[in-house]
Amino acid sequence: MGSFWWKDVLRLNVLYRGIAKCKLGRGDIVQAWDDLWSDSLLSTKYSSLYAYVKNPRISVQNMMETEDITSMFHLPSSQQAYTELTQLQEDLLNLEITQDNDQWFYIWGGPCYMSSKLYKLVFAQHHTPHSVRWIWKSKCTPRLKIFMWLLQADRLNTRNMLRRRGHPQFQQPDQCVCVLCHREEETRDHLFFDCIFSKRCWRLLNIHWQQHQMVHIRIERAKILYHQPFFMEIFIIAAWEIWKIRNGQIFDNKWPTLQLWVLNFQEQIFLHLHRVPDGPR
Ligand SMILES: [Zn+2]
Repeated sequence: MGSFWWKDVLRLNVLYRGIAKCKLGRGDIVQAWDDLWSDSLLSTKYSSLYAYVKNPRISVQNMMETEDITSMFHLPSSQQAYTELTQLQEDLLNLEITQDNDQWFYIWGGPCYMSSKLYKLVFAQHHTPHSVRWIWKSKCTPRLKIFMWLLQADRLNTRNMLRRRGHPQFQQPDQCVCVLCHREEETRDHLFFDCIFSKRCWRLLNIHWQQHQMVHIRIERAKILYHQPFFMEIFIIAAWEIWKIRNGQIFDNKWPTLQLWVLNFQEQIFLHLHRVPDGPR
């Protein structure tokens, strides 16, 4: 469990990539898809094409040196992906790499990390959804806060996420099935909100989710409907325990039962109790 958790934390390098930009030299230490070296991330700009990429960690240099650009992707691809492929080809034709070293800068314009600037960048944005701000205001442990942040950003390694990243083990529909119900593809929304297993957990807690909504809206509306204090703490802990039950099934072959989830949830609530002072959230 612990090692799996740290794999998720390592995903926070996404955050580092969000605040660092590369001035391209040779392009050999820059990941073409997920590092920021032009105006936007390639994986975002060409998101349809990215779903078919064989090696998401390919460097800019290797990408430039690939003679047949289609060899970098699983085929066949969608029409949209094909359109993006031709645009990418044009981008690469206009790209110049040099023999200099690649250089990294923080996007506030210097090579030095400053936590105050990072804080402003991450937490003081005007458009941060309420549901994200509530994470940091909650009394949960930092580990659970980061988990919830990853959940809301859809950065958890669900099977659907692994498929989208081109993981070879998760390219067939039957490899992406939810291990809690064996009925649907394991997306973030399915696993935490729409799965019959999760629905039973939420029913016990009297938390109701609106269907087919964006995650931030779901959370904001559920909080209004809940009408009780500590909604965010209960939501975060319950979701965390669903994630652990799911991981227990995959990595330790532990049978997922509602009883086990209830026990773990109660234990986690107990561990958190001393962190929560009196007064509603
Ligand atoms: Zn399910």
